[in-house]
Amino acid sequence: MTLGTWLLDKAAGNDKKMRRLVAYWGATALLYAASLTFFWVEVRFGKANAGIAFIFTGLVVTGEIAFLLLIRNFERLGLSTAQLSLYQSWFAIVCIALSYTGQGPLRGATLLGLFVVLIFSAFSLKAREALSLSIFAIVFLGATMCAMPFTAPQFFDLKTELLHFMLASSGLLVVGVITGRLNNLQASLKAQREELRTAAEANRKLATTDELTALPNRRYMTELLRHDEQRRTGAVDSICIALIDLDWFKKINDEHGHDAGDEVLKQFARLGRQHLRESDVLARWGGEEFLLYLPGTDLRSAHAVLERLRSQVESARLLRHAGEIAFTFSAGLVELAAEEPVEQGIRRADGLLYDAKLKGRNLVETDMEAGLKTGSGPSQAEHGA
Ligand code: GH3
Ligand code: MG
Ligand code: MG
Repeated sequence: MTLGTWLLDKAAGNDKKMRRLVAYWGATALLYAASLTFFWVEVRFGKANAGIAFIFTGLVVTGEIAFLLLIRNFERLGLSTAQLSLYQSWFAIVCIALSYTGQGPLRGATLLGLFVVLIFSAFSLKAREALSLSIFAIVFLGATMCAMPFTAPQFFDLKTELLHFMLASSGLLVVGVITGRLNNLQASLKAQREELRTAAEANRKLATTDELTALPNRRYMTELLRHDEQRRTGAVDSICIALIDLDWFKKINDEHGHDAGDEVLKQFARLGRQHLRESDVLARWGGEEFLLYLPGTDLRSAHAVLERLRSQVESARLLRHAGEIAFTFSAGLVELAAEEPVEQGIRRADGLLYDAKLKGRNLVETDMEAGLKTGSGPSQAEHGA
């Protein structure tokens, strides 16, 4: 761990935003330390005013402590990061102007600090705020520079100060406009990134969701099965798979219309969502066929789940203006054997589904020997009003 990260841990904790703010504060504290050193070296060589150096040091130290406290508590105080940045920038401009008045012939170099302040603020201020900050710097500096030749004419020459002011103010204006533009660019990049993220998320959802039933689609289920198959570790976890097919669905379409058929598919999806457990995944496999994936479930429990769904579907009615529609489903249910590929399991489930259809429909057919083949036998559902 470097000294920087250790200090950051102590001063900012783990919160990412707080660490960024405190890190910025640390960078400004280093700059202040450098300018204080520069100032005191000048005082040492008799080139700067020691009284102002004392005031400057006191102001910087108190200000920096106050800002660290403000940053640590900004959320509690209801401040935004932009406000924090603006206050720090104002303070820096006042400090720079004060330091300028106390320094000797090298004071022109102090003005470079103003540009550093503006560039720092570019990350958090909007274009208009950045420009108003430049204008504040120009006005404050102008007033200070104007006052100096009158308060201490023996040290300051009006013409030199005017020249300094013209150079600094034109530079500040340009930097203010550019940092503002940069900030606008950064904001639009951020907005574009957010749009892309939302679009990618919507695309992902579209690509993995069945439009009609809003259930996961075959692509999603295939991916999920492939993913889980790779993670399977022997026979530790039981996995069941059921292929479900609505009974006499063509007849529903023929008798009630395609729209009614669509409504039946939606109704089945709703019932599945309502009555299946969180861990079960029901996907539309194609047409009026669904695949139910029951990870961590043995055959007996899976059978109970399907049997419950079968009876819910059997007793549900789809209300249409022309009357109500009843429907049922048949299912083939298997538990994957250890090491058995999922595809083979699905083929077995398909075979059992075929058996269920042959045996009269509205049945859950499993490969478990005795006692589990249940259902009310040949479909009693009435397809009509
Ligand atoms: P079985 O009990 O043997 O499964 O008979 P079935 O009539 O359900 O089976 P079949 O395969 O003969 O008919 C399936 C019908 O499902 C045919 C097809 O037009 C219809 N179908 C498939 N997808 C949709 C859909 O999205 N909406 C509607 N309304 N019908 C669909
Ligand atoms: Mg079918
Ligand atoms: Mg069918």
